[in-house]
Parts: sequence; structure tokens; C-alpha cells
Amino acid sequence: MTGKRLYIETMGCQMNVLDSELVVGQLRQRGYVRTDEMADADVVLINTCSVRQHAEDKALSRLGSLKKPKSRRADMIVGVIGCMAERDPDGITRKMPHVDLVCGPGELNRIPAMIEEIQTTRRRALALSDDHSRKSTPLQRATEYDSVESLDSSRTYGIEGTVLQAYVRVQRGCDKFCTFCVVPFTRGPERSRPPGAIIDEVRMLVDRGAKEITLLGQTVNSYMHQEDGRAVPFSELLYRMNGVAGLERIRFVTSYAGDFGDDVLAAMRDLDKVCEYLHLPAQSGSDAVLRRMRRQYSVRQYVELVDRAREMVPGITLASDFIVGFCGETDAEFAESLSLVERCRFKNIFVFKYSERPGTVAAKRSNDDVPEEVKRSRNQELLRLQERISLETNRGLLGQTVEVLVEGPSKRAQKAQISEQERGDEVGMAETGQFVGRTRTDRIVVFPVETGMVGRLVDIRVIGATALTLHGRMVDGVVADESVGQLSPVAAIAG
Ligand code: SF4
Repeated sequence: MTGKRLYIETMGCQMNVLDSELVVGQLRQRGYVRTDEMADADVVLINTCSVRQHAEDKALSRLGSLKKPKSRRADMIVGVIGCMAERDPDGITRKMPHVDLVCGPGELNRIPAMIEEIQTTRRRALALSDDHSRKSTPLQRATEYDSVESLDSSRTYGIEGTVLQAYVRVQRGCDKFCTFCVVPFTRGPERSRPPGAIIDEVRMLVDRGAKEITLLGQTVNSYMHQEDGRAVPFSELLYRMNGVAGLERIRFVTSYAGDFGDDVLAAMRDLDKVCEYLHLPAQSGSDAVLRRMRRQYSVRQYVELVDRAREMVPGITLASDFIVGFCGETDAEFAESLSLVERCRFKNIFVFKYSERPGTVAAKRSNDDVPEEVKRSRNQELLRLQERISLETNRGLLGQTVEVLVEGPSKRAQKAQISEQERGDEVGMAETGQFVGRTRTDRIVVFPVETGMVGRLVDIRVIGATALTLHGRMVDGVVADESVGQLSPVAAIAG
């Protein structure tokens, strides 16, 4: 099998990014190498997202484009993995008969064996979770994670080379059943991973150079694991992680406002490695809409939590998610979302036009009755408001000094380097010079430094600001100094 080429494309949230990373790790152990050329690959895997129809359409279009290459090369294996595979396996195989492998997010550790089976039998292989039952409570299930942990555990052998930032899963699934959301159906019930396994994985990543770890969970703050007869909550996990030598920064996404205890805020205040940043989806600023969405908090409770976070964790920034055009959303209800954004002054928000998902409560019981053009205009209005707020808050940082983890060359510098290489110029990154990093509060900063600084924490004075980016200059040298690594992408997750 040595030298087989693997193409993997990831759609959706950070959870999928991590899943793809772990699948790649498993296949690397079996001799696969990654390729960027989809049509030339021996195995093509599309890691799918089901949160919006648009994401599923994109996956189908990608799969459709594989029909021709597959017809020319019968031995090519085409696989659909992730949430869409779990949600609609029959629809996928009916529409895309050339698909060989369909694997849900809870079964990804079976992919190497499935590929071997397909190579031997030339028959389609399916792996879907057969137990999405919620007979037990989350706390009872807190001891049951071991049975599904093999994919996460395989990471110990899967990562090659150094890594600067990494995701670590602490929890799978979700029990909230927001009426619009497909995640509880595709990723199953909420299960928390044993703290010992998490800390072991964090130590392994730090040994490989990781400075920043982002803990992932669909509702990460509801993490709870039974250990020796007592419950370990999320705040205790943060305390344990803070003790890992060599780790510089701890982040976590995504938090659920309904479950957010002051113990987590106290940990954010007291632990030097936990960054002052909270991604806290609101979804709407209207109590009536929140009730229809079955979010388990009111606008007042959300605002009180935001105020308490600002009080307890000095300098904290908050980001949020909003859905516009949810079933029956009136102009007045949308105006309440605008008021909430104005009131909370988020660092940034992700805005999504409501997209009906089959099988959800909203799809069964409510009408997707807000016209598309109204959704579009509400989307733009909310984003315009946030852009103004982001610009104002970023300008407020002019002249201040912020600590930045140098992640790598900025996109513009990368493009410049590629064209230099294409022209055969010998001008390197040091000359193009612009690097990018993030503050502890998750603000993106672009600044000139010399090559060899990637992976270092540096002090940057802010000299320019747009709504999305700060620009700066290095002040007086390096705060911490160690290894070189790579940049991980960051995207939105449910919650
Ligand atoms: S939106 Fe978040 S909290 Fe609600 S069901 Fe989906 S994953 Fe769970």
C-alpha cells in the first residue's frame, strides 16, 4: 500500500478539521501520502457538514466532479465521511452511485479497515453509528467515552513533525436539541472524554512543539467526566491543563450560554494560560425566537453572563453566532438581535441565514417562512452593525501593546512568496516580511518580523486597525522562545 495518494477535503467546523487530521494520521501510518490533486488520488475523502443545505450542496457538487476521474480509474476510492454521511447515507449513494465509502463521524477509526475491504471486495462499505440512544444521562455517559475514543487516541501515533497550534477534543455529541440543529442527530449524545486521556494528548502535542491548544466540544463548558466516583467539571479540566509545562495558551470552543458556570469564569481569571476569549453563540436577541429555537436561556440571562464575564475576567473579548430569518422571525424580533449586538459589543460575530434541516423539530413543526431576500438583508444589516463595532473597538487598541503568538507569514506575504518563487526570484519571506498572529483575546495582528520567529510570543504595539485586523510593530523582543510550527485554521462550530 506504500505511496498511495490521499486527497481529503474538509467542510464545516473545527470538529471536522480535527477529525480529518486524525483520519490523515491513521492513513499515514499505513503508507498514504497527501496530495492536493483530487483527480489523481487513490483515495478521495470528503469530510462533510450538514449544518446548512449550502454545505451539503457543496459536498454533492464535489462528489459529482469525481464521476469522470472515477470512471477512468476503477481502483480510485471515493468516500463521504462526517455529518452528511451520518444524516443521509441512502440519499448519498442514490445520487452518487460512484461513492465507495460512507462513514459517520463516530466511526472514523474504521476507515483504514473499510478501505482495505473495498480494495479486496470492490463493494461499497458503510459505517454509521447504530447507538444514538439517550437512555442514560450525560453524567452516566461520562464513564462511557472510552468505547469511542480510539480515533482521538490514535493521534499519539498520527501526527508527524512539529505543531504550533492544535485542537484537542474533550467532548462528543450534544443533548441540547435546539430545534434548528442537526448535530444531536449526526454526532449523537453528549459524551465527555476522560481527563487523563486529554492531558496525555496535550502533553504529547506540547512535546511536539504545541504552544496553543484549543479544546473542542459542541457545548464545551458542559464537559463532565466521572472519575473515581466523582464528577470532573470543565473548570477542573482547565486547572489540570494549566499545569502542563511548556504549554503557553489554552482556548476552548464552543460555549453554551445556558450551562455556563462562574467556576469557568474564575478559572479564566485565575489561570495564566487560559486566554481571555469566549465564543458564546446567542443565535437571537429575541426571547420569543430563543423559545422557538429551544435555546435554554433568555436574553436577560445571556446579557447577565456577558456582564459577569467582563466583570470577572478583565480584558475578555466575546464572539457570538446569530441566525437570521428563523421560522416566523418578525422585523421586531430581528431588531432585538440588532439591540443585543449593540449592547454586547462583540469582537466579531458569525451570522447565518436560517437553513431548514431535514429531521429537526423546526423542519417538522415550523414553516421556513421568512423570504430569502429578507434573510439576506437581515444578514447584511447585522454584519454592517458588527463591522462598525469591530472597527471602533479595534481602533480603541491603537497605541497599546499586545502579546501575539507568531503563527506564520500573512496571506499576502505567502502570495508574494509564491509569485517570487514562480518568477525564480531569490527574495525570501524576510524581505516580504509580513507575519500574522493572534492576541490572547483572539484578535488577528499583522506585523513585520524576521523569519525564524514563528512559534514565539512577541509584544506588538498596535499602529493600525481595520474591523478585522490590527497592524503593529514589534516592541522590545521576545517573551517566549522555542520551536517552529504550523498554522491551524479556525472556523465556527455549533454550540
Ligand atoms: S446548536 Fe449547539 S447546542 Fe444547539 S443542538 Fe446544535 S450543537 Fe447542540
